Amino acid sequence: MRFLISSVLAGLLAGQAAGQPDWSRVETETLSHFQTLIRFDTSDPPGGEKPAVDYLKSVLEREGIPVEVFALEAHRPNLVARLKGTGKKRPLLIMAHTDVVNVDPKKWTHPPFGAVRDGGYIYGRGTVDDKDNVVASLMTMVLLKRMNVPLDRDVIFLAEAGEEGSTRVGIKYLTEQHQSAIDAEYCLAEGGGVSRSGGKVKFASVQTLEKTPRAIDLVARGVAGHGSVPLRTNPIAHLAAAVARVAAWKPPIRLNDTTRAYFKRLAALSTPADAKRYLDVIGADPRLVAAADEYFLDHEPRHASMIRTSISPNIFQGGYRVNVIPSEARATLDVRTHPDDTPEQLLAEVRKVVNDPAIDVAWGQRDVRPSARGAELDSEAFTAIEAGLKKHYEAVTLPTMSTGATDMAYLRARGMQCFGVGPATDLEDGPKGFGAHSDQERILESELQRFVKFYYEVVVTLAERR
Ligand SMILES: [Zn+2]
Repeated sequence: MRFLISSVLAGLLAGQAAGQPDWSRVETETLSHFQTLIRFDTSDPPGGEKPAVDYLKSVLEREGIPVEVFALEAHRPNLVARLKGTGKKRPLLIMAHTDVVNVDPKKWTHPPFGAVRDGGYIYGRGTVDDKDNVVASLMTMVLLKRMNVPLDRDVIFLAEAGEEGSTRVGIKYLTEQHQSAIDAEYCLAEGGGVSRSGGKVKFASVQTLEKTPRAIDLVARGVAGHGSVPLRTNPIAHLAAAVARVAAWKPPIRLNDTTRAYFKRLAALSTPADAKRYLDVIGADPRLVAAADEYFLDHEPRHASMIRTSISPNIFQGGYRVNVIPSEARATLDVRTHPDDTPEQLLAEVRKVVNDPAIDVAWGQRDVRPSARGAELDSEAFTAIEAGLKKHYEAVTLPTMSTGATDMAYLRARGMQCFGVGPATDLEDGPKGFGAHSDQERILESELQRFVKFYYEVVVTLAERR
């Protein structure tokens, strides 16, 4: 009832700031949608997002919000819903993926698709990746519509399939074949979040840029022979030495607007010793930069990866029986290129580091997401997100460049400014095995609810008619 009165009032007051939803009712509704979404097994592979999309469609259409469904494969649809604005500003896209990574049910205490509530948490695959963003986007659309919020820009909700490794049915397909349905000035998606420790908010991360995953194959070749007569051409020995050289190599340090702002702001939140290193690494003294980097490599490997193209040798194959010298051995390197490095130059440098004519160095098989420029920190969107994080979490915002990849890469490559946000989680949860992709994935109910409020208000700030 309160909704009805509020929406009538909001209608009468069109042009003025929107009123507040009845948040206690919204919380009940959020929980119900969230649990329903978690209970759809949308594991990818094989991928089967249709039940989740059908559900979202029914909820949105019940509210009178028009929905389009785009599918390259019938059981793997993508949903697009749009609320129209005056067109004074270009659209805002809010995006979340409906697929989840696989589970090993034996390892779960609570069933992975049970959405069980226990001790203030909701357990299940997708609770923090990415059905939290799905439900925040869904509730934002529903509330904008019910509250009759007058809009200066269209707000588009995209629930995409295939983020966890099959972008060809999801964001790749959409950007290649249905770009006009999702084109926007700004987008919000996963990849950020608020970090708590000891139950207290420490800082918020907003992803504004990401590295690009690639693969490099090293193939060593030699002459096969009897193991009783060792050969200096043994491909396993050559490959082992080459892999060791590549692993020890430190690609040059690169900094950009995002990482400079990140370290500067992080320094303000850190102990004096940590703060010094964060300021040193963005400073001008090469010796201090190198010392901070050494510390990162030993103690804060994520920071070491954030400041350069990273290379991790993750597959090593060679040999098949003890008395045979094999003629070939192969290693695959997981490469995450920094946005400021060029792939061709990198490959040439890896060849130099390998420095062995018996070894071929070439790009390996991998889905390569496009690389793109970062979102701007002085934009209207970043300002609104930062203000929302301060209001709802009393948190300082750290713009971050993620070392992993998200679907935002495809949108950034088309000129959209994308920002990754997420709910608050406890820093202690990851190491204890409760994080994203873990066997006990969970979210605090109170934090899910806070995230929905934050998300809705950021979207109102960015899209409401002024
Ligand atoms: Zn995700």
